[in-house]
Amino acid sequence: MMRRLLLCVLPALLLLSGCAAPVDPDEARESIQVIAMDTAMLITTYGERSPAAAYACEDVIRDLEKQLSRTDPDSAVSRLNAAGTLELGELDEELIPILSAAEAYRRETDGAFDITIAPVVAAWGFAGGEEYRVPGEAELQELLERVDGSAVRVEDRTVTLGPGQAIDLGGIAKGYAAGKLTQIFNEYEVPRALAELGGNVLAWGDRPDGTPWRVGVQDPAHPDDRNALVGVLELVDSFAVTSGSYQRYFQQDGKTYHHIIDPATGRPADSGLTSVTVVAGSGAGGAMCDAYSTALFVMGEEKALDFWRSQQGGALFSLVLVTEDGRVVVADKTGQFNFVPEEGSGYTYETVS
Ligand code: AMP
Ligand code: MG
Repeated sequence: MMRRLLLCVLPALLLLSGCAAPVDPDEARESIQVIAMDTAMLITTYGERSPAAAYACEDVIRDLEKQLSRTDPDSAVSRLNAAGTLELGELDEELIPILSAAEAYRRETDGAFDITIAPVVAAWGFAGGEEYRVPGEAELQELLERVDGSAVRVEDRTVTLGPGQAIDLGGIAKGYAAGKLTQIFNEYEVPRALAELGGNVLAWGDRPDGTPWRVGVQDPAHPDDRNALVGVLELVDSFAVTSGSYQRYFQQDGKTYHHIIDPATGRPADSGLTSVTVVAGSGAGGAMCDAYSTALFVMGEEKALDFWRSQQGGALFSLVLVTEDGRVVVADKTGQFNFVPEEGSGYTYETVS
């Protein structure tokens, strides 16, 4: 009998409280938990319209989930995957900007991020619903022939996949959702907020006492201990998105298999990294941070840092990489955040430029 161990560890980024002056009691504040997109989300809004804003966030997330879910057979993504083509109705319109963003990130990352990885993700049992299993090499090669995001066509309102293709937006949907929350915060004139969508954090404004939001970066070696951190990000008006091999995995015959698949091999990326955190300003787009964190995990340290260097003229983002050999590498030219190493974590810390 195979021994399987499922550990689905919820939020990769942990919200830290305390350590600063108390919140002004007069300041209106609403905190809600939303269980959606396979994770527990926490949204805290401030300001006079904070309750309405928080619930508007929930509506946006639920609406997106209805369109993008892999497991809901009625979602636009499921209908597209089942039929290979879909004329988008009024309620499915988010698919158009997401697909075009996903295609841009596929090209930029040289295919490390590719939503048509879906059949391979499903073969490993990471698409939800199926059992975890280790597919054979021949099966993987056969499935990999269908992986090619450039074959996805969007014409007017009709999306068409290549033969045998399916899409999986698990690597971008939460970041895209986090990006949409900035629109709500603007619309409801929310002065400050913190939204944590399962490893995708939007820190809006600063904290009521004027200090930055403090967001922990989980130690991948201790995924069950939410207090085990490699460090803390101090953020103002920023997205921070973490992808990690510890976030979803199973074990079989003494080996660990995680959910971030290298499209070059069809296997869990074996890149020497255990987590990648991408940080960018709140104007940059949560979807970008989410897609990049997945792609840079696949690339590994060297290629990820090359990518980061090559992008410095364009969309600015910063990185915190955690390596299998116990290093934390911080790459930041934006001045967007402060990274505070965790004392006694056992990691060594490097800053690169
Ligand atoms: P994230 O946690 O954002 O890194 O996303 C991981 C999820 O994205 C997985 O659970 C899969 O659903 C999907 N995925 C896995 N590998 C890839 C890949 N190379 N490109 C795009 N999506 C992927
Ligand atoms: Mg991602």
